[in-house]
Amino acid sequence: MNSTLHIEIVQRQHSCLDRNELLRNVKKVTVDGLITSGMTMRSFNNSLLNEHVESIMFSEFNNEEGKVIDFKTVNVRYYVYRLNVEGQQTEVMDGGDGEDDELSAASHWILPSVDFHGLWENLIYDSTIKENLLSFVETTILFSDCKVNTNIISWNRVVLLHGPPGTGKTSLCKALAQKLAIRLGHRFTHGELIEINSHSLFSKWFSESGKLVLKMFTKIQEYIEDPQALVCVLIDEVESLTHARQSALAGTEPSDSLRVVNAVLTQIDQIRRYPNVLILTTSNITAAIDLAFVDRADIKQYIGLPSVHAIYKIYQSCILELKRTGIVTSIDNIVPFKYLQLPRTEHDNTMAFQLSMQLFSIARQSEGLSGRTLRKIPFLAHAYYIQVPQVSLEDFINAMHKAVIKQLSDRK
Ligand code: ADP
Repeated sequence: MNSTLHIEIVQRQHSCLDRNELLRNVKKVTVDGLITSGMTMRSFNNSLLNEHVESIMFSEFNNEEGKVIDFKTVNVRYYVYRLNVEGQQTEVMDGGDGEDDELSAASHWILPSVDFHGLWENLIYDSTIKENLLSFVETTILFSDCKVNTNIISWNRVVLLHGPPGTGKTSLCKALAQKLAIRLGHRFTHGELIEINSHSLFSKWFSESGKLVLKMFTKIQEYIEDPQALVCVLIDEVESLTHARQSALAGTEPSDSLRVVNAVLTQIDQIRRYPNVLILTTSNITAAIDLAFVDRADIKQYIGLPSVHAIYKIYQSCILELKRTGIVTSIDNIVPFKYLQLPRTEHDNTMAFQLSMQLFSIARQSEGLSGRTLRKIPFLAHAYYIQVPQVSLEDFINAMHKAVIKQLSDRK
């Protein structure tokens, strides 16, 4: 079976160019050009595209990064979309007693949103976690759309990502929602992402009654009623619900919390019946997830700490960004990880290779740090050890080394 090449085209905000006209021009610049997997084009040999297109991104599932794509052997799928620039909206709910009682219950985005552009590509995992999640959900939506009888083939629309903090679970949920809104553009006109703030669920007002939970889900229901909208509901750190439930059962917390948890679970059961709904949940504590949640989730995925390979790629992407912005100045590029594994040749004496080997050794030292911490290392390296607007790659890598040592010793 041929693999599929996904070509995502971001149309400029105010462009009204017809889709077919746009695609005709995209085909002109992509077929004869040298396209590699994972690449993004931002400027084109075509004035129409320069005027109407922000970027074109190419991705081929399971293909190694940087491999030249042979258009004759792939199925090509095109997605044309505009990014929503409104960003995050806060859903405020009042507790019923006037202005002071306003409570930020949830955040809301219309997808694809500018806030999550590139998030998917910048989350780096060794295995095919991201692609598997995407195809799981695509199958879910297909089965729902085709009204496959769930008594014969069972599936549901709840995803649970669990693992240590800072490993990208929340970001992956958001990135997944964004990716789906893009890839399912033929089925939905847009996506809605609602992130429920689990902590405010247990604040004063929510705990007082399950009514506010109901109020919040009524709002969500309004979004769901538009069948052209893909509605993704994100509940972060579901262990806080579990905790509240257990404490209530043990008598250490008021039974109101139990009411809230039960109200949330009932509401989830209500909305997960709809074909355009996806419920995304995360938990930092694998052992303590409420069975009620585990049972509801079809897709349970453990997200662990990054391996050396992933760490190297994360650092590489950070350095690329600092080069793009002119802070790191160097003609040398960090080489792809796979080149470090090959038998040694005369190229190994190049500066780029030497620096890459140094970065690899820093990556090895960084094992055990979360993705969140890793993405801060370049910042800390600059703030502590550079402090000038421009720096060579060599000096920057040395500073990163010091920053990692400091990070590891601060943790002790
Ligand atoms: P969690 O929900 O697991 O606590 P977050 O989604 O809040 O983690 O992650 C915070 C940030 O850490 C992300 O936005 C991302 O920048 C970075 N990060 C975490 N894991 C990875 C990863 N595997 N690859 C790249 N970046 C990562």
